Amino acid sequence: MFDLHCHSEFSIDSKETMKSSVQSAIEKNIKTICFTDHIDLFPPNTLHEYSFMKSLYFQSLYQVKYTFRSKIEVLSGAELGMYPGLSSRYDDFLSQEEFDYIILSMHSLKGKDIASDWCYNELPEIAIKHYYSEMYKCLIEYNNFDALGHIDYIDRYFQNKELIPKFNVYEKEVNKVLELLIEKDKALELNTAGTRSGLFYFHPKIEILLRYRDLGGKYITLGSDAHRKDDIGAGIKDAIKLLKELGYKNTYKFIKRKRLALPLG
Ligand SMILES: [Zn+2]
Ligand SMILES: [Zn+2]
Repeated sequence: MFDLHCHSEFSIDSKETMKSSVQSAIEKNIKTICFTDHIDLFPPNTLHEYSFMKSLYFQSLYQVKYTFRSKIEVLSGAELGMYPGLSSRYDDFLSQEEFDYIILSMHSLKGKDIASDWCYNELPEIAIKHYYSEMYKCLIEYNNFDALGHIDYIDRYFQNKELIPKFNVYEKEVNKVLELLIEKDKALELNTAGTRSGLFYFHPKIEILLRYRDLGGKYITLGSDAHRKDDIGAGIKDAIKLLKELGYKNTYKFIKRKRLALPLG
């Protein structure tokens, strides 16, 4: 088993040390873990941005990588919060260190943090189209990433889940995102945090996974998005089962930004 999306104390929203996460992963027989801590950059005078101290992050990462090297593979990573116009600043951040795996995720919309202060003052049908349209614009601009994270993250933050529009309302916008992702040869993340965040599905929901497959998408990565050690590996077995049912033979990991197949068994 593997978990390529975990947060540690280097993320603003986690207190877990890498050491305790790695120990928990070993207990769960996880063979590969990647620490994808948050970097969310924003233009001046908009949202409060945050990023981790790379030197301290790598110091801690190399320590656990070395200490537990006979039991588990520990990979370095980051989760970038996409925002229009900032790809070159992220390039600068990434250029000075050798990361294994980079996830690109949408955490804000129209200058609002989706998790904390986004509340749609538009109809849900319009808001969700804006979300995927902004994602598409960012994907045109951003190249320095390996996988698109939790594509339908916005679903979590509809206070009334019954207001989440049906897929056919915004499928054109999703198609554009998926087609561009495939054209760019990037992976799509299957993120199991959805079921721990008030939804009854993983990210992406089945309609989007099926659409990705039917459009020819081959590369899916797996991650729990754990922010505490107890959640490491959560849902990954079920996610593997789902991928097999959809006909996938492999999932993927990245080492020094190179894609490598992991047979699903
Ligand atoms: Zn995220
Ligand atoms: Zn995350």
